[in-house]
This record gives sequence, C-alpha cells and structure tokens, in this order.
Amino acid sequence: MMTCAEATRLVSDRMHRPVGPWARLALHVHLLLCSGCRHYEQQVVLIRYWLRSKPMQQPDTSAFTPAHLGAEARTRIQMSLSARTHHQRNQP
Ligand SMILES: [Zn+2]
Repeated sequence: MMTCAEATRLVSDRMHRPVGPWARLALHVHLLLCSGCRHYEQQVVLIRYWLRSKPMQQPDTSAFTPAHLGAEARTRIQMSLSARTHHQRNQP
C-alpha cells in the first residue's frame, strides 16, 4: 500500500500535473483506508477552491504613507532615527 508521505505528495502534485491511472488508483485506495490523508485531501481541495474564488488583492498600505503621519509622529520618527544614527557612529 502507498505510504502517507507518498499519498500527501500525490494529492499536492496532481494539482500541478497529470497523474497516471495506476497512481490515481493507488491514491484512491489509500484515501479509502486512511482518514488522515482523506482529511488532508479535503483541506487541499478547500484551499484550492478558496484561492481560485478570491481575486488576488494588493494590501491597502495607504494608511502607512508618510503624508498621513501627523507632525508629532514624523518628529518622533526623525528623532529616533537620528538617535540611532548617532549611537551607531559612536560605537567602536
Ligand atoms: Zn495516509
């Protein structure tokens, strides 16, 4: 019988490439007998479905642009950076 490592690898591989009939049969038998690999296959199918149904989106980083920082935050960052630079310059 196919091992669990072979079965999980095959479950993942068949998303990217065609799998031969004997490998498909061996996987089918393994999945009938092994609840752990059956659960893994269900997870892979769900993840694949979720990824295909959700369009890729860029994260919204507009809140982190310097233009949106308040004057106090900009001053604090500048002081922190200059203190760090001063500390690095004075290290041996
Ligand atoms: Zn298994």
